Amino acid sequence: MTIKNNNWTRRQFLKATGTAGLGAIMAPVNGMATAAETPTNVPTRPFGRTGVDVSILSLGGMFNIKSNQMMMKQAIRWGVTYWDTADCYQSGSEKGIGKYFKKYPRDRQKVFLVSKSDARDPDGMTDLLDRSLKRMNTDYIDLYFVHGVYSIDELDDRTRAWAEKAKAAGKIRFFGFSTHSNMEECLLEAAKLGWVDGIMMTYNYRLMHTREMKRAVAACVKAGIGLTAMKTQGGGPVGTDSDTEMEMAGRFMEKGFTDAQAKLMAVWQNPDIASICSQMPNMSILMSNIAAAVNKTELSVRDTELLQRYARETRSDYCTGCTNICQSAVGENVPIGDVMRYLMYCRSYGDRHYAMAEFNKIPEKIRRRLATTDYLAAEQRCPQKMAIGRLMQEAIKELS
Ligand code: SF4
Repeated sequence: MTIKNNNWTRRQFLKATGTAGLGAIMAPVNGMATAAETPTNVPTRPFGRTGVDVSILSLGGMFNIKSNQMMMKQAIRWGVTYWDTADCYQSGSEKGIGKYFKKYPRDRQKVFLVSKSDARDPDGMTDLLDRSLKRMNTDYIDLYFVHGVYSIDELDDRTRAWAEKAKAAGKIRFFGFSTHSNMEECLLEAAKLGWVDGIMMTYNYRLMHTREMKRAVAACVKAGIGLTAMKTQGGGPVGTDSDTEMEMAGRFMEKGFTDAQAKLMAVWQNPDIASICSQMPNMSILMSNIAAAVNKTELSVRDTELLQRYARETRSDYCTGCTNICQSAVGENVPIGDVMRYLMYCRSYGDRHYAMAEFNKIPEKIRRRLATTDYLAAEQRCPQKMAIGRLMQEAIKELS
């Protein structure tokens, strides 16, 4: 694993926080923190062929940044200098970043800033890019994504021309897309294009070991595309009881970290992943993730096996985003993968408000179709054996 600057002692970490009473937060990470040496910062890795080194931990901006300005300052001090937002994020995410850069204009140079467009047409993308620049009080965005791509067909020659123009105008430095759906296909196809600089995709201990994902990541690395992993907790807490979960948590605790930290470390163990984008809406999570980022411990083969066994045991609780499979089985426009994700936001992330807002953006006609579709064929084809019909009904009840 090629990581730079990965050394902090627990004492130095506590000193840096300047905060009393952090024992409860640090307790699970004592082992990992004392295993470190010299204080510096969150490590960095090269981001594809861009020539830029980014912090391996990226601050996901889907929270109230306006009210968390000091946390943003602290994130920079600790080297979390890759910030991720989107035009569509709620809680005034981009405006919060704009407020920060207005107050600390010199910090703009330190941050590798990402934002995203829901639009696909060039005019729409220009409008959203200009709005993002204005909101964030900046005249450039380091990496600009087309948000939530399902298929590489959503990018075409017009997209390429738009990206080249935006780069030439100095509005963006690099271009790419994010994807929660059919990630493996999207990555493989992107690697053939030759003009995608970076991709943020769902990637975690549940997905990273499949042949398809390994092939897709290797193709992007060969093509010089920088990769950022998101949804690295693999859906967070799940409903299925699993003895492995207890065994795993106990083992990781003995080694000095939590299972949530181990899931981050599992992803960082792949040197081809430049960064992990993580929602860190408070100081506790930021600190916990930083403690994982500065830790030098490699997960053992046994650790990795436990994570994989847990993933197998709980697979029917986790949608892997392979929407081409289930959505083609129902033969109609029914956004099964999106609804599964909104359920995850609600149940695992505890963000009911955002989940409901996203669910209710689905046109009413399609929401009605969600309730009446026969999901039997989709369930038979689902590799995760998810109870799609039941989950769609529950989503309608919980999120409407
Ligand atoms: S419901 Fe099943 S088939 Fe559909 S995207 Fe999720 S895991 Fe894939």
